[in-house]
Amino acid sequence: MIIVMKAHAPEEQIAEVCRRIEELGFRPHLSRGEVRTIIGCVGDERGKPRLQTLELLEGVESIVPILQPFKLASREVHPAKTIVRVGDLAIGGERLCIMAGPCSVESEEQIMAAAAAVRAAGATVLRGGAFKPRTSPYAFQGLEEEGLKLLAKARAATGLKIVTEVIKPEDVDLVAEYADILQVGARNTQNFPLLTRCGGAKKPVLFKRGMATTIREWLQAAEYILTEGNYDVILCERGIRTFETATRFTLDLNAVPVLNELTHLPVIVDPAHGTGHWKYVTAMAKAAIACGADGIILEVHPKPEEALSDGIQSLKPSVFQQLMAELKPVAEAVGRKL
Ligand code: PEP
Ligand code: MN
Repeated sequence: MIIVMKAHAPEEQIAEVCRRIEELGFRPHLSRGEVRTIIGCVGDERGKPRLQTLELLEGVESIVPILQPFKLASREVHPAKTIVRVGDLAIGGERLCIMAGPCSVESEEQIMAAAAAVRAAGATVLRGGAFKPRTSPYAFQGLEEEGLKLLAKARAATGLKIVTEVIKPEDVDLVAEYADILQVGARNTQNFPLLTRCGGAKKPVLFKRGMATTIREWLQAAEYILTEGNYDVILCERGIRTFETATRFTLDLNAVPVLNELTHLPVIVDPAHGTGHWKYVTAMAKAAIACGADGIILEVHPKPEEALSDGIQSLKPSVFQQLMAELKPVAEAVGRKL
């Protein structure tokens, strides 16, 4: 249910409504607008009718049901766009967020070279997996904590923020010690225990779409993070499985305007995994920005031919630099800044 407070309702009235919501066994989630505050009440659906009695409280204008199955992610509960702040970085505002770096952290030399290159080209977030969810158990699984330490070193040297994947609930605290943004990958979109743990972390979450997850399933999965009190969720479209085999996945850019309508959460696009080939990354990065994404995440490797994972879809630093130059006029055409 959504409790809509009267215009400029005083803080005491808002606090009292929240207290009563908790008393009834629900969790209040506040969304403060310029004029009025909206309080989303989430909890066991079966107890919902009890909330109707709160209509009698002072300052309450109306109580309406939340129509979408995803509650806290919906524009109904939170009409204004969310801006996720990572230190001095804002994701979801006018300025686009560019995240780039290798698929995996492989060595100190590799991650330092990648960090310097992506920073020089204008990225503000360095990506790199330390824990890798690989399709084959025989493939490189990542440097684990050693990889996290190397990422921290690259951050210290460049000032870039770090985004890196966490694949197990029990690793969330460790990864959160090093990362600025926790990444939940496509193979874990519906790993609910992992999502719940990320919801308890004090770090923003880059939440990728599963390759066979519908937009509505994805938003309901995001709810597992939000309902734990972590509202800093960035959605990432990274391609879905279709009958098409010419590309690794089919980058579903339809998802961008659909998400911008359904949810207030920032949306970024991964044209590297979405296409699976470096040749197509620039075109789809431009398309992503043109259709309303808040940023992109892609793979850049100092020597793609030597990469231990995803070399074929990784850009050389010079190609990334050229991509950034081509992205600028596209960003300006849709009223965004690079
Ligand atoms: C990655 O970012 O390297 C990755 C494994 O992505 P995804 O989860 O989208 O496959
Ligand atoms: Mn990858």
